[in-house]
Amino acid sequence: MLIDLRSDTVTKPSAAMKQAMFNAELGDDVFGEDPTVKQLEEKVAAMFGMEAALFCPSGTMTNQIAIKAHTQPLDEIICDKICHIYNYETGGWAFHSGVSIRLTDGDNGRMTAEQIEELILPDHDWLPNTRMVAIENTVNKGGGSVYSIEEMKALSDFCRAKGLIYHLDGARIFNALAALNQKPEALHGLFDSISVCISKGLGAPAGSVLIGKKDFIKRSRKLRKVMGGGMRQSGILAAACIYALDNNVARLKDDHTKASQLAEILQELTWVKKVLPVQTNIVIFEVADAAGVGAQLAKEDIRVQPFSPTLLRMVTHLDFTEPMLARAKELLIK
Ligand SMILES: *Cc1c(COP(=O)(O)O)cnc(C)c1O
Repeated sequence: MLIDLRSDTVTKPSAAMKQAMFNAELGDDVFGEDPTVKQLEEKVAAMFGMEAALFCPSGTMTNQIAIKAHTQPLDEIICDKICHIYNYETGGWAFHSGVSIRLTDGDNGRMTAEQIEELILPDHDWLPNTRMVAIENTVNKGGGSVYSIEEMKALSDFCRAKGLIYHLDGARIFNALAALNQKPEALHGLFDSISVCISKGLGAPAGSVLIGKKDFIKRSRKLRKVMGGGMRQSGILAAACIYALDNNVARLKDDHTKASQLAEILQELTWVKKVLPVQTNIVIFEVADAAGVGAQLAKEDIRVQPFSPTLLRMVTHLDFTEPMLARAKELLIK
């Protein structure tokens, strides 16, 4: 039995999800004529209390479009040093938007208003313009760490007071909400824009939705086109996303329970030096030689993701079943 814990992106569409895709009503979305894409966009916007939405192929694209739509060259964005935008989007902020980036050293990726305030630049000819703050919830490289609603609200108030755009990279926002026992309504009014990925823990084969104000989404639509992200009968993907939102949100807590159980075992092992606190579906742990341990586990049919020379990541997801958890526990202990 192959146990793939490299990412929550490795899930495959279930039979029921494929049926929903098969049945989807389709049109040409570049012409704005795909009813299923429209349905998804309206659904996600309404859930999070935003005016409008844009369906995109990936979360990288929704983040990159958001940065481009909110900034101009000579602007600067503030992120945490372990965030996805900084580490895993190919330096897209510079490539697409011509902006610079300044980084906090947060608590497993979570930044505070005080940390951000220190990075806001004064208005001089020789400095870029501080324009935008982007947070990530949950924080992938932070071991799936979670900002509480109060923390997100405090940063929202701070950004408003300072005139800064406030963006959420919500690749795993539904994991955060599950951990907090909250619904998307709790985020109403907090952000200028949010990226919501449906291809992570929710199990769709592709797709992220960018949400925000109407004029922002209008500009974003044009940016999606120039980045090559205008899709035609993309309702076939949107149908999978709608299915995922209707069926795969409530079960996320199972993934969190399984991740905690894996972490409990790892903590007992002599070859594991440290396990980051587990709040959601991500387990990051430290070993002497990540590549070596990764290769050893792969021989036992457990696939994990090396995250640095000494860090490994396991991510639980809807295709990681109870029998797989039992088998993984056995193999790790032995
Ligand atoms: C996965 C992920 C993204 C988007 O990644 P894509 O693979 O481009 O969809 C963005 N932010 C975070 C935190 C992620 O984990």
